[in-house]
Amino acid sequence: MVSRYYSLLRKVVASERGRAVSAAFATGMAAVCLFGLIGCSGCNGPSGPPKFEAPPVRVTCTTTIVADAVKRVGGERVQIETLMGAGVDPHKYISGSGDRKKLDNAHLVFFSGLHLEGKMADLFEKNHDRWRAHAVTNTIDHAKLRKASVDGGEHDPHVWFDVPLWKSAVDVVRDSLIALDPAGADIYRANATAYLTELDVLDKEIRAKLDTVPKDKRVLVTSHDAFEYFGRAYGFEVIGLEGVSTASELGTPRRNELANIIGTRKIPAVFTETSVPTVGLQGVLDDVKSKYKHEVKLIGGDDALYSDALGEEGSSGATYPGMIRHNVNVIVEALTK
Ligand SMILES: [Zn+2]
Repeated sequence: MVSRYYSLLRKVVASERGRAVSAAFATGMAAVCLFGLIGCSGCNGPSGPPKFEAPPVRVTCTTTIVADAVKRVGGERVQIETLMGAGVDPHKYISGSGDRKKLDNAHLVFFSGLHLEGKMADLFEKNHDRWRAHAVTNTIDHAKLRKASVDGGEHDPHVWFDVPLWKSAVDVVRDSLIALDPAGADIYRANATAYLTELDVLDKEIRAKLDTVPKDKRVLVTSHDAFEYFGRAYGFEVIGLEGVSTASELGTPRRNELANIIGTRKIPAVFTETSVPTVGLQGVLDDVKSKYKHEVKLIGGDDALYSDALGEEGSSGATYPGMIRHNVNVIVEALTK
């Protein structure tokens, strides 16, 4: 058993807040994760989640985006811990020493799923009874999912950029909370209904804004392929510099191809993301300038797009609707001027 977990976990090559780590260090950290997350055989650790008796429901979420849905549905009945904080890239996350405690202490665990969390999600799926872990994307009709274009999972995990599609995550959170805490059912249902209505309004609002971008300018060039669902839902062509996962590298042929697309089509702006390093993107822009004599705006800093994590408390991307609005405002501004 333990060796199977070990082989899973040693593949969790990751870094926190975009810092690169050597493969050796990552493997070492994965070994720490092994004992940190699942304990050792023969230890007298807990074999299942704590019994729920009365609120607050202790919930541990992997990403800030998932946690935001839980916050809205659970309200004051839930107490939330998040493993991956603001700005953290989930594709490269290394489990920290406090994660096991947060997981073992939780009545419910929510993760995004569709391989967003890499091998950590495999652990949750294979050990559902230990942590009562739910993938918030697990009820989405597979016909609505995009295929993953690179290694990793079967489907593209970035479903939250299609607002109507993300609504199903809210359903999963509501139903899981009701199953654990039926006494709170009316509250969870009312909160979820209000939030789903708010998401319908958000969807209409951003659709109207995005429709103001001229058709030939509807191209979104970003650091990694997080925005394919966004493109499909709102009518944008999306060009990611890397694959779906930020763990893949940008090879020279792809770099040349991208420079050619941006340079010959005179794409006005490309976008950086808060949770992804910009090294690959800057290299392509240098090529565009030298080979195609085309100056491209690099949208970054406070305007960087939120992709796989919300922003810090107080920032425009601190909530899911805030993150979506921020991105849409930045995209519309950069592509219409
Ligand atoms: Zn991503």
